[in-house]
Amino acid sequence: VSPSGSLVDALRRAVAEAPGRTCLAYFDGRLTYREVDELSDSVAGYLAARGLERGDRVAVLLQNSPHFVLAVLGAWKAGAVVIPVNPMYKSGEVGHVLRDGEAAALICSDRAWESYLRDTAAGTSVRIVLTACELDFQTRDDARVLAFERLPQAADADDLTAVAGAGRPAPGDRAPELDDIALISYTSGTSGTPKGATNTHRNIMYNAERQRTGLGLPEAPVYFALAPLFHITGMVCQFAACLNSTGTLVLAYRFEAGVVLDAFAEHRPHYTVGPSTAFMALAAHPSVTREHFASFATLSSGGAPLPPALVEKFRAGFGPYIHNGYGLTECTAPCASVPPHLQAPVDPASGTLAVGLPGPETVVRIVDDRGEEVPFGEQGEIVVSGPQVVPGYWRRPDATAETFPGGELRTGDIGFMDDSGWLYVVDRKKDMINASGFKVWPREVEDVLYTHPAVREAAVVGVPDGYRGETVKAYISLRPGAETDPGELAAYCKEKLAAYKYPRQVEILPELPKTASGKILRRELRSRSHGN
Ligand code: ATP
Repeated sequence: VSPSGSLVDALRRAVAEAPGRTCLAYFDGRLTYREVDELSDSVAGYLAARGLERGDRVAVLLQNSPHFVLAVLGAWKAGAVVIPVNPMYKSGEVGHVLRDGEAAALICSDRAWESYLRDTAAGTSVRIVLTACELDFQTRDDARVLAFERLPQAADADDLTAVAGAGRPAPGDRAPELDDIALISYTSGTSGTPKGATNTHRNIMYNAERQRTGLGLPEAPVYFALAPLFHITGMVCQFAACLNSTGTLVLAYRFEAGVVLDAFAEHRPHYTVGPSTAFMALAAHPSVTREHFASFATLSSGGAPLPPALVEKFRAGFGPYIHNGYGLTECTAPCASVPPHLQAPVDPASGTLAVGLPGPETVVRIVDDRGEEVPFGEQGEIVVSGPQVVPGYWRRPDATAETFPGGELRTGDIGFMDDSGWLYVVDRKKDMINASGFKVWPREVEDVLYTHPAVREAAVVGVPDGYRGETVKAYISLRPGAETDPGELAAYCKEKLAAYKYPRQVEILPELPKTASGKILRRELRSRSHGN
């Protein structure tokens, strides 16, 4: 797998081959490859005219809208590094990213600019601001706003839509090289203050090429963007992979199960990838039917644990098999995945579903605390090297040396490999619960909870306990209409798990806290229970 150029080169190739093909589809709006190329040229031309230089950083804080795509492609055409920013971030978090990345430009929605980003950006290095009119739309009427029909009015910021429509040429000498940094991706912060991983164009295009050649999708595939594009999974496995295949990317602004199902029915996608929580929400929606999934050639789950019970429920209820995939921001999304023609084995001893096989040219090793490789079947830390592993963190030499010794990525995940090469992720090293000296991995308990018919979402954390040091607590949200109680759920687990593992405390919440990329925030639940 060897990429021949950046996504900007792939776009130019697509324009040459299929200028009139739909590149982006959103409700009733469509943009062809030629339009996306021309509109993003104008954005690049504008940024360069405003003094943006090669290597400068452009922060992009937008939902899954066409504007996001035009902003990122425009910034790359201007030779810039993109900082994709989580639109759920609060002012302090955005401020950290703008300062840490020393952003020269900010592209965001006009509403976010007016409500808080104007204050956030004041006093930072941001000197160019473009705003786009994005609404929290749920209906087709609102969607028309995105179809470049209305110009927003943000004083002291220029309008992205107008700039994109200006017909300006991109600067001719700025095309990114494969080893240039394409993104500074701030990790989602499930484990602490975000650090910026520097994904190069080569990192991105390696994984995009792997998808193009390895997923078995038809010519001109239709991708649905279930994951947010600002997150590395959405950016690489949807945006980059789709455009690199000259496919059509269907956008639905942000995840809302009913809207997503309508879009499946209308656009008949072949492929999507999202966190397992998105599949749980789709499966629990009152109007979901098998027909919604009839067009899919394959489905992937990535970025978060995939409970085997969900895979089964999904296959039995809706037809498709959900393929697992494992990755981190630091390895530019997947480093191991389940090929489309295979199904992941389940480890008979622990009941864990394999996350996949390492990709070509990717070496996954399992090491002990001294860094020595452990035998097949034994648990240790997962370390990864390969063309998708980033060169390091932005301006953090100490953190880079610690996480990437010798260029290998220490993932902080505990896992094991079987003798056929399947990789299994046990859990995050730091999430281990120590109950009276016994190790409990939250994932194993969660997988059991997911086999209970009433459970929609489950998260298990360690809480302080005077006698055991720590004890196991489960937070649950229920499927619509389901009835159960904490005592029944604890008893259910007690039947299936060793005495030190079953949750002695169970709390039912209407919804579990999640990151914008759909991961359940164990950290927030842990601090909630510590506060109690
Ligand atoms: P932070 O690094 O701040 O904690 P984050 O971990 O959520 O944020 P990501 O890079 O998005 O940032 O997540 C990578 C992590 O997600 C992995 O280290 C692993 O723990 C988990 N993960 C990813 N894919 C899978 C999978 N298929 N099964 C289990 N866990 C997974």
